[in-house]
Amino acid sequence: MRTSGRRDGYDVVVVGAGIVGLASAWMARRRGLSVAVVERDPRCTGASIRNFGFVTVTGQRAGKTWSRALRSRDLWAELAPQAGIPVVHQGLWVLAQRQAAWEVLEAFSKTSMGEDCELCSPAQIATRAPFLRARDSQGALYSPHELRVESRVAIGQLAGWLAGSCGVEFFFDHEAVGISASGVELTASGGQIDLAAERVVLAPGTHLNGLAKPFLSAYSLGLTQLQMLRVRPRQSYRQTSAVMSDLSLVRYAGYTGLAEHRRLLSQLEAECPASLADGIHLIVVQSQDGSLVVGDSHHNSRQVDPFGQDAVDQRILAHMSEAIELSDYEVVDRWLGWYPVGGPDDALVVAPEPWLRVISVTSGTGASTAFGLAEEVFDQWSS
Ligand SMILES: Cc1cc2nc3c(=O)[nH]c(=O)nc-3n(C[C@H](O)[C@H](O)[C@H](O)COP(=O)(O)OP(=O)(O)OC[C@H]3O[C@@H](n4cnc5c(N)ncnc54)[C@H](O)[C@@H]3O)c2cc1C
Repeated sequence: MRTSGRRDGYDVVVVGAGIVGLASAWMARRRGLSVAVVERDPRCTGASIRNFGFVTVTGQRAGKTWSRALRSRDLWAELAPQAGIPVVHQGLWVLAQRQAAWEVLEAFSKTSMGEDCELCSPAQIATRAPFLRARDSQGALYSPHELRVESRVAIGQLAGWLAGSCGVEFFFDHEAVGISASGVELTASGGQIDLAAERVVLAPGTHLNGLAKPFLSAYSLGLTQLQMLRVRPRQSYRQTSAVMSDLSLVRYAGYTGLAEHRRLLSQLEAECPASLADGIHLIVVQSQDGSLVVGDSHHNSRQVDPFGQDAVDQRILAHMSEAIELSDYEVVDRWLGWYPVGGPDDALVVAPEPWLRVISVTSGTGASTAFGLAEEVFDQWSS
């Protein structure tokens, strides 16, 4: 069946069914606008399904990014029950394995971002979070803000809910090949379609050389490549919140903005230079089936490298063993992911035309901030 032809118009056509595109579609529908989403693949297989599904608030850069993450958390909490998406974790434990890390957490807890967080002694951890390796630690910070969904399935569920309950029309397996003030041109195996649109959102993820290139090339964005693992415990193991540790305190801007992180960085440079060179910091989250998603590493490049390195995986797993009470497990999945890096801020919103917005999260914070970011875009975009 040929699908060539011109379709009735939409108020908004969104290109890209990753979390940024879906968040944009939802925000447009909340404003009563008619919306279509175009996705080149049969389903999103980009960064949005490869991450931890972890909406991280504590640790985000002070200011816009932290506020967007907090707002996104609220929006996720509102949407998840409506969309039938289980929230599989609440909160975050940041384990301080070194005295210098504890000093970063103490300093953080005195900032306004730390107000609702708690510093816990090893004895308190043993009671409240027995899955952490408290005995080797200086203590931990508990943040109540975070939540986690299983992104591998949640992104598809979110698209299904937007289509089924919110009236968003989806064009999966259709590539947007042209945009103009009158709409978006799509191609698929069945032919070509022109979607008339008042406004267009481009949320291309890592596809920096496609339609978005003329609008993003000035920012010289690159990509970072991440290695991720799923491990299955062979022993009884239950983790109620996400876990991070010392390496996160020299990576996340909410901590590196504090002078106290410098002493920790010097110590880590001396003790685990290979992990720092691989851009490793530890996040461990648990899924409903008991398996754990563990990561990650960061290697920046101008282009995608299809190959992961076992040595990097082994380093990530070693850091996991130092942070949680899990010794008997098997690795059941490994995958790579990419996201854009290098912009002037954590996210870019380019408005080259009154009818067009190009949105690129350039900091690996899209899972945490997309809803808040999309809400800002539509709040500021008068029709
Ligand atoms: C391994 C990993 C771990 C991460 N961990 C975290 C984390 O802990 N916390 C956090 O907040 N963030 C994290 N991130 C970052 C987060 O996943 C991204 O910021 C976010 O998913 C980006 O969403 P997106 O919609 O912009 O891109 P994507 O998910 O890549 O989606 C873009 C979509 O656009 C489609 N597309 C592009 N061009 C076209 C076209 N011309 N026509 C049709 N469709 C098109 C693509 O096919 C793709 O499906 C992580 C990322 C990775 C890879």
